[in-house]
Amino acid sequence: MQPLLTELLNLEGMEVETYSNCGDHLTLVIEAKTTCSTCPRCGEESHSVHQNHWHLSRDLKISDKDVFLKYNRRQFKCKTCGKPFSESLAFIGDRKHYTDRFAELVVKDLIHGDIHNVAKKHNITDDLVGSMLEYLSKKKWKFDPSRIKRLGIDEIALKKGQKDFVVVLVDLDRNELVGVVESRTHKAIQKELESWGDQVLKQIQEVSIDLSGNYRGLIHKLMPDAEIVADRFHVSKLINDALNNARIAEKKRLQDMADEVEKKRLNDILSKSKYVLLKSPDKLNEKQEEKLILIKENFPVLGKMYEQKEAFRDIFDNYFDWTEGAFALMNWMQDAEETYKDSIGTIYRWFTEITAYFETRTTSGAVEGINNRLKLIKRLGYGFRNFDNFCLRCLICWQLDIS
Ligand SMILES: [Zn+2]
Repeated sequence: MQPLLTELLNLEGMEVETYSNCGDHLTLVIEAKTTCSTCPRCGEESHSVHQNHWHLSRDLKISDKDVFLKYNRRQFKCKTCGKPFSESLAFIGDRKHYTDRFAELVVKDLIHGDIHNVAKKHNITDDLVGSMLEYLSKKKWKFDPSRIKRLGIDEIALKKGQKDFVVVLVDLDRNELVGVVESRTHKAIQKELESWGDQVLKQIQEVSIDLSGNYRGLIHKLMPDAEIVADRFHVSKLINDALNNARIAEKKRLQDMADEVEKKRLNDILSKSKYVLLKSPDKLNEKQEEKLILIKENFPVLGKMYEQKEAFRDIFDNYFDWTEGAFALMNWMQDAEETYKDSIGTIYRWFTEITAYFETRTTSGAVEGINNRLKLIKRLGYGFRNFDNFCLRCLICWQLDIS
């Protein structure tokens, strides 16, 4: 027995008997400490070893050396049912040439690199990396759609400025990515959702969506009992964008001014005014507060729109009852009819979904965090040539229960 190597190996229940050191790799001969095993058929313990079967498998490095384990998967004979059986070993799957923990290490690297580079790093073949991934996803996949009660559907652009959108599906109660759909078509999304099964879809109570894609019909069809809630951050963005556009329009109008001195004065007030106008007042410092006052004095329309934007936010912060919230929103729409014309058109079209927020308080705020993580994976995933590879990496990141 090699007590030091046994301790270094740190595989529960296994002991290092001997070892051989060949240049760049170390081979450890290990054996189980127990002398018995439980018959998988009848559950009886057996002490009678029928045959020895020696195997070789890769394991984690020990001080920079690749490690191979030579281990015996003993075949016992069960006295009760009279049949032989192979013992099951906790650290390695049946007929695998790598330990579970080695596969986990390799698969974790796939989050940041492509298969080829990861294979090279660990001195194994591309095929073996693929087989490890498949093995672990079967063994450790923890995704269970039956838990989803509140679902977020959101679109993200993977390449800036391109029409390369994917649709992400998020379990809003757990802030977990549960699916990535390659295209925004109803057909593609329907296929993914239907793969969860009817029973799962029927129990989904809420679906949070943004205001861009039109998934209402699809959601009603597939998840008849789910209430659709427009994500409040997307709704707020509508208002913020309109305010910012008005700011840009004011700036453009200044170009035509004849009085150069006045033109410069007003231009200075509007320069770097985006943050001041769009952020909430409690985030502004003294200088920014002064700027806001100047904007309000010199650009009354922007001043008015600013107040309306704040009033809009207050409604969503403070109403927890559908009727009260819906009335407050309708009053706001009346008040902002002139200034936020286009936004109000959108709010009318999504009124039911937008006001559903007052009672459900459901937002897909968490989705934003997930989206940022996805974009990071996308950036890191150099050379990933296809969508499946991207998907895989996302799911390793969220769904493989690798500690
Ligand atoms: Zn048996």
